[in-house]
Amino acid sequence: MQTSFPPEALADPAMRSSEAVIRKCVHCGFCTATCPTYVLLGDENDSPRGRIYLMKDMLENQREPSAEVVKHIDRCLSCLSCMTTCPSGVNYMHLVDHARAYINETYTRPRSERLVRRLLAFVLPYSERFRWALTFAPLAKPLRPLLRRSKALRPLAAMLDLAPSHVPNPTSAQSSHVPGAKARVALLQGCAEPVLKPQFREATVRLLNRMGHDVIFAPGEGCCGALVHHMGREADAKAAARRNVDAWTTEIEGAGLAAILVTASGCGTTIKDYGFLLRDDPAYAEKAARVSALAKDVTEYLDGLEWLPVEARGLTVAYHPACSLQHGQKVTDAPKRLIAKAGFTLRTPAEAHLCCGSAGTYNILQSEIANELGTRKAAHLDALEADVIATGNIGCATQIARFSGVPVVHTVELLDWATGGPVPLALR
Ligand code: SF4
Ligand code: SF4
Repeated sequence: MQTSFPPEALADPAMRSSEAVIRKCVHCGFCTATCPTYVLLGDENDSPRGRIYLMKDMLENQREPSAEVVKHIDRCLSCLSCMTTCPSGVNYMHLVDHARAYINETYTRPRSERLVRRLLAFVLPYSERFRWALTFAPLAKPLRPLLRRSKALRPLAAMLDLAPSHVPNPTSAQSSHVPGAKARVALLQGCAEPVLKPQFREATVRLLNRMGHDVIFAPGEGCCGALVHHMGREADAKAAARRNVDAWTTEIEGAGLAAILVTASGCGTTIKDYGFLLRDDPAYAEKAARVSALAKDVTEYLDGLEWLPVEARGLTVAYHPACSLQHGQKVTDAPKRLIAKAGFTLRTPAEAHLCCGSAGTYNILQSEIANELGTRKAAHLDALEADVIATGNIGCATQIARFSGVPVVHTVELLDWATGGPVPLALR
């Protein structure tokens, strides 16, 4: 695509990067067919190509975006399905991340939207605040019909919809050592996952220990920054990235790390991109690139290890590939291979490339589209008539469980169970 960014705009490295992305797009439109929002809404402005035009116009002309432009960018799930489809190698992720940061700086959202976004950024990335909010959410659930009547307050109703009726007791993330360990790995603790599903982390630690790995949780590490990054709060995302880079660098330069493992693929995509996010920060660029190079989805890492003897459980598993895993990290076969190796019968759903609608804060901020996608996804998964649904991302697990009657587990819980661990909680 031809561009005409003024030279003064190109003095900004972020603009230069976006210009290079835009120039790669040949407007072929292949990406439209696999974009969930285009599939649902049929509007070119809700397709990757349409959004690229909108972002080009906004960035190239240094324009303050209109409410209409913001609406279409906000509707993007950041599922990155378009990046898998694009034959031209357009890095849509970097472009939309920049566009969101630009919108955050130049556009004034209505007061109610600003309040909701601030609330999400204040609560979700912090485990303790999130746990506290979930504890009190049941008391506010009766207010949902009232909140739904106002468009501005609908996200609050969506938040309450997502809150579980029971919050698991807090469990501590304790590093574990095995005698004669083959390797030492860090496991991301993160923010929401250990509050909602501590069993994911517990299963991962058990399995890695069984496979002869020391597992550590680096002191000081926390939310990867994805939740705030997707809301355009770039400074917050960079602060989260720097904090995590510091925490893991201490471990890398101390006892050493073979890998930094992530059980939530949304976080994995972000951590693998820390090198890009902090590329212009002289104090962090190198360290961030090293952290990104060590980051791996847990299934990607396990797939490279010698496998343990398994006990067949006789169950059929419907595998849901999280977008952040299949499109963001291009990890497609490893989880399926592991499920099959662990003795389960594997089934994959129709439209596996389409997002389930979770997408970080998307099912709060864009609940109507998210609900449509969730219903559609669950219908395809349920049609497989499997005993259990496995996935590799806390957001997908939560979203799918709302719409499907089939129990949902993390892939690692099945692997742990097949190699001697306890029955996954959702199957008890
Ligand atoms: S598939 Fe790639 S090159 Fe074609 S329109 Fe979409 S982003 Fe542009
Ligand atoms: S990231 Fe997903 S929702 Fe956004 S334009 Fe690409 S395919 Fe569509």
